[in-house]
Amino acid sequence: MHSYEKLLQENKDWAAGKVKEDPEFFKRLSLLQTPEFLWIGCSDSRVPANEITGTQPGEIFVHRNIANLVIHTDVNLLSVLEFAVAHLQVKHVIVCGHYGCGGIKAAMSNRDYKQVLNMWLRYIKDVYRHNREELNNIANEELRADRLTELNVIEQVQRLAKTSIIQKAWKERSGPDLHGWVYGLKDGLINPVYEMKANTKIDELYEYEDI
Ligand SMILES: [Zn+2]
Repeated sequence: MHSYEKLLQENKDWAAGKVKEDPEFFKRLSLLQTPEFLWIGCSDSRVPANEITGTQPGEIFVHRNIANLVIHTDVNLLSVLEFAVAHLQVKHVIVCGHYGCGGIKAAMSNRDYKQVLNMWLRYIKDVYRHNREELNNIANEELRADRLTELNVIEQVQRLAKTSIIQKAWKERSGPDLHGWVYGLKDGLINPVYEMKANTKIDELYEYEDI
C-alpha cells in the first residue's frame, strides 16, 4: 500500500467511526457552518488547529501559512479574514505561532532561501528590526527565537486591527476580539501572549474614520 492510500483508508475508518458515534454527524455539518473562531496559524504539520484545541470539524475556520503572517497585500489571507469576519461573524480571531518555528529561525539566519521565500521571510526580519534592542540582549539563540516568535504573533495581531475588515466589524458589532497565542511543540501547551479586545484604540495613523 502506498502512503497516500493509507490516508484514504484511514478516512473511510474515521467517517465510519463518526457515523457510528452520531448517525446525523455529517448531515448536520453539511447544512451548517457557524464557527466561532478564525485561526491563523503556521503551516507546520505539528500544529493542527483542531487537534491541539480539542475542537471538532465545524468549530474553527482555518488559514495557515509559513510563520502565521498577516500581510496586507495577501489576497488569500484577506479573503479568508473578510469571509470569516463579515459573513461567518466569528467572535474571535486567533493568530497562533509556535516555538521552534522553522520560518522564524530561517528569518534569523543570513541564508539565501531564494526569491519567493526570501520575500516572505523579510516580513519576519522587519519584526526583528523593530525589536532589535530587546532581541539582541537575549544571548541564548533558542530563547531569542522564542521571543521573536512571540513578538511576531503580537505584530500580526496588531496588523489585523489595522485592516478595514476588522475596523468595520468593530464599529458594527463590537467584535471580534483578537488573540495572539504561541503553541509549544515540546509540551503541547498554548501560551496566550497578547490580546486586543474589540474596539481597542489603535494608532490613529491606521484608523479609518468614514468606514
Ligand atoms: Zn512554523
